[in-house]
Formats: sequence, C-alpha cells, structure tokens
Amino acid sequence: MPIAFEKLGRSSKHKLKGSVKQRFGGTCAYCGCQPRFLTLDHVVPRTQGGLDMKSNLVAVCQRCNRSKGSRPLWDWWQGSACWNEERAMRLAATVLVCKIRFVK
Ligand SMILES: [Zn+2]
Repeated sequence: MPIAFEKLGRSSKHKLKGSVKQRFGGTCAYCGCQPRFLTLDHVVPRTQGGLDMKSNLVAVCQRCNRSKGSRPLWDWWQGSACWNEERAMRLAATVLVCKIRFVK
C-alpha cells in the first residue's frame, strides 16, 4: 500500500507534487490553461478507492478541479467545454487507473 498523501513528509509531498505538475509543463491537464496555482486532482476519486500515487494524480487548475468534483473523469471531461482529445490521449498515457469509456 502506498503511503497516504497526508502522511508523506513535507519534502516528499513537494517532490510528488512537482513531478506531477511537470508532466504537463505547468498547464492544467484538463483545460490546458496556465494558472498561477495548480492543484492535484485524483483521477479516480479517493472516495472510490483512488490512491495517492503518481499514476492517479494530475495537476489541474482550481476551476477544473472544482467542476469535476468526485465525478468519474471521462464522464465529466467529455461532457465539459474543455474536452480536448489530444490532451486526453496525453493524460491517458500518464495515468494507469482510468476507465476509458467510448462515446460516439
Ligand atoms: Zn483547467
């Protein structure tokens, strides 16, 4: 079992955050904006068993994080105005734990 994010020491928390943020070059993984602050989102929400692992974390802007809430990623994203297939493919390549649902 990985260690819960809250229980990580300050520096390892910082490192994890930093490497997640760098994956998309400081931009929001969902909408592509470049916010002043990026927040970490659990692709699979913690309430649904999502883990505090790099493969389940993405750096996103606050607006997307709030808008997504605890909904499943693809349900939220494909129905949202910031849906972008190219970013979705990049994201899918970095996270291990999302169920992809095909929508016509
Ligand atoms: Zn965003």
